[in-house]
Amino acid sequence: MNYQRFFEEAIDQLHAERRYRVFADLERIAGKFPRAIWRSNGRAQEITVWCSNDYLGMGQHPDVIAAMQAAAGGMGTGAGGTRNISGTNHPLVELELELADLHGKEAGLVFTSGFVSNEAGISTIARLLPNCLILSDELNHASMIEGIRRSGAEKKIFRHNDVAHLESLLQSAGRERAKLIVFESVYSMDGDIAPIEAIANLADKYNAMTYIDEVHAVGMYGPHGGGITEQEGLVDRIDIIEGTLAKAFGTLGGYITGPRAVIDAVRSYAPGFIFTTALPPAIAAATTTSIRHLKSSQVERDAQKRQAGRTKQVLADAGLPVMDSATHIVPVLVGEPELCKMASDRLLGVHGIYIQPINYPTVPRGTERLRITPTPFHDDALIDGLRDALVETWDALGIPYGSTGRPAVTESERIIPLLVPKSGG
Ligand SMILES: *Cc1c(COP(=O)(O)O)cnc(C)c1O
Repeated sequence: MNYQRFFEEAIDQLHAERRYRVFADLERIAGKFPRAIWRSNGRAQEITVWCSNDYLGMGQHPDVIAAMQAAAGGMGTGAGGTRNISGTNHPLVELELELADLHGKEAGLVFTSGFVSNEAGISTIARLLPNCLILSDELNHASMIEGIRRSGAEKKIFRHNDVAHLESLLQSAGRERAKLIVFESVYSMDGDIAPIEAIANLADKYNAMTYIDEVHAVGMYGPHGGGITEQEGLVDRIDIIEGTLAKAFGTLGGYITGPRAVIDAVRSYAPGFIFTTALPPAIAAATTTSIRHLKSSQVERDAQKRQAGRTKQVLADAGLPVMDSATHIVPVLVGEPELCKMASDRLLGVHGIYIQPINYPTVPRGTERLRITPTPFHDDALIDGLRDALVETWDALGIPYGSTGRPAVTESERIIPLLVPKSGG
């Protein structure tokens, strides 16, 4: 066995499939978000980021930065161990209470990332339930798919947001069997929203548990930032609400909230929680500050909504193929992987605009796109500049205008992305 060659060939295969990824070397500038320094070929230049998941710019909020600095100054950097060994740093106790309150749930549990919270939460709940059947939306995130796999439970995939299909699967399982319905509120690549109430109704009818990933909604939707479940008044209809601290809240970590007994069981049985060091106190303190701010301040949510709406309008008015989206996510269709990569490279190199290309397997082939996430800090002038840069890029590369909406995608193509880990939206 030539080990070296083996790994080189694994990489070559990605190159051959045009799926090899190169990360931009970026340095975010606190106080100037969404500006960042881009380093390439020994040069450093300031650019504008248009695809950040720091959706509200909370990662540079002065109060959040101050909370992190104060906690690090007062309590040091690391947590000092797993919670089993070192106990729980007080800022983490406060954070979990804050999260339970945010979602109107009895308890919350924090993990080192949203990925881990899904992997550990779903796998532990489904493993503890006897003969559990998991019903999973076909476009669920890679972290949920990992949790489903690790649970060892039987799984059935329902077509994206298709409640009739979900009902037929629930029906054939019967009321008596343990069932866990796993889905997201906002799907991050298309920006569409799940029919949460209809799914909750089915869960009641067939006696199933529900688990929702609100990663792309917490902080941004609902009067306190409790997500789509808060916005639609459905918090009590869903058993487990999962979220991340790393997107709209601007720091790092993930969590689940729900009934005390379920959360306590995950705390007590999940290896991905037990055998790993807790989040540093400074991150917990900064996050609590961020959540509290967004609970009472509507300014960021309103501004994001306005700027996302304006971006969609301005790009569509220029004839650019903006895809349908019910949320803050603005996908612009390219429809071909090489062109998508070239468009991204040209935007950065020529226009100083960073937008990561989204290609297969993150999205189905033929729907390759630029995924734009306007924040409150992308002002009108930046939006107009984006439009001009996109139009220049579309013209220079001969990318088709006009065909808005989603191209028809075959069933098998929509299933394949589930089998390959996504890049992490
Ligand atoms: C980003 C993402 C996660 C993972 O959250 P992290 O905190 O980044 O690990 C989970 N679910 C969805 C839908 C995501 O897009």
